[in-house]
Amino acid sequence: MSGVFREAEWIPFENRVCFWSGGKDSTVVLHLTRKAWGDDIKVVFVDTGITLPETLEYVERMAEEWSLNLTVLKPDLDFWDYVAKNGFPHAKSLWCRRLLKLEPIKRFLYRIHGYRLCILGIRKRESVKRFTAPWYQKPFYRHKRFKFTYNLCPILEWTDSQVDNYLKKNNIPVNPCYKLYGTSGCYYCPYVANKNHYLNLKRLHPELFENIVYAETVARKGKSALYTNRQVFIHKLKPQTALTEYI
Ligand code: SF4
Repeated sequence: MSGVFREAEWIPFENRVCFWSGGKDSTVVLHLTRKAWGDDIKVVFVDTGITLPETLEYVERMAEEWSLNLTVLKPDLDFWDYVAKNGFPHAKSLWCRRLLKLEPIKRFLYRIHGYRLCILGIRKRESVKRFTAPWYQKPFYRHKRFKFTYNLCPILEWTDSQVDNYLKKNNIPVNPCYKLYGTSGCYYCPYVANKNHYLNLKRLHPELFENIVYAETVARKGKSALYTNRQVFIHKLKPQTALTEYI
């Protein structure tokens, strides 16, 4: 068992919960956690309601293959109802993370009692913010807001290539979304300002692409789904347009 898991053993946790998004990082962490503690863990996946369909399939397939004790959490409302009410999320108003992910997780954690350990696929190198944030400097720490709750981040210091090498070395299938879209989370995301992502969505899941178009043209008429340094309209996206014209 690696040192970081051993460090978390001095507290008699009643619940060890591994948060799994179906992305590469959390899949590595899930694999490491099962290696350390076997199947004596709960696994939680949050389906935001706008999760890429291939991620849902991947999670379902791997959960069966690995016989996971999986709980799927969902937000209270449909994402597009939230958009009609709040507008599209963007960097300065990232309500989606709170309403689609954090609130369902909070409700779940309140339902389980005793000492809780949350096992997370966070890596410092993912962003400058994470690299410098004081609470991400240690792989095992007490949660600031939740009582009796600790976080464990077994791959906090890992690089991209360490993650890729681990998946390869252990023959772990990778979520196909990385090849298809370059990302594995939500099919619409204010942080995904990549034309090819949306064009692939249009090609593979036209009905989901239409949800974005509908919100731009009817539900939030005149408001674009994306903001970079200007409005970026997904419904105007055309394959022949040069990438720089849009995003
Ligand atoms: S992946 Fe993007 S759209 Fe989904 S919750 Fe996170 S920030 Fe919001």
